[in-house]
This record gives sequence, structure tokens and C-alpha cells, in this order.
Amino acid sequence: MGKTYTIAVRCAKCRNLLYRYKKEGGGMLIKCYADMITADYTNGDLKCPKCGQEFARHAIIHNRPAHKIIRGKVFVRGHHG
Ligand SMILES: [Zn+2]
Repeated sequence: MGKTYTIAVRCAKCRNLLYRYKKEGGGMLIKCYADMITADYTNGDLKCPKCGQEFARHAIIHNRPAHKIIRGKVFVRGHHG
């Protein structure tokens, strides 16, 4: 496994904190593997609990349950990204 970064994933619309996530490598966030989410501030429905915006869809990526980010719906701040 490469280097991982803990990042804060926020709603692009209202900046509410959605996840803390352990991201592998740099680059844009296009998915969150469910088992790499270290803190989940949502109700588990892939919507921002504050403004209701849907920000991801359930997917299986490389045989792992994941949340595929809808482009432009999240704002990431962290070590990288
Ligand atoms: Zn929001």
C-alpha cells in the first residue's frame, strides 16, 4: 500500500463536514472506499445531512464497497487533493 492521507470531505454546497477519509495517494477524490472512511458525519444515505444534497452513489470498485463521488459535489481539504 502506498502513502495514505487523512482528508476532510465536505459538501461543496454548504461546506458541512461529511467524512474523514484515508486516501491512498494524491490526485482528485473520485471515490471513497467504505472501509477507509474513518469518521462518518452523514446518516449513511450519501446525502449531506445539512442541505440534503446527494454527493455520492453506492458502487463496488475493485471488489470493495465504495461511494462514488458525484463530480463537483464535494470539497476536499487535507494533506493533498
Ligand atoms: Zn450540504
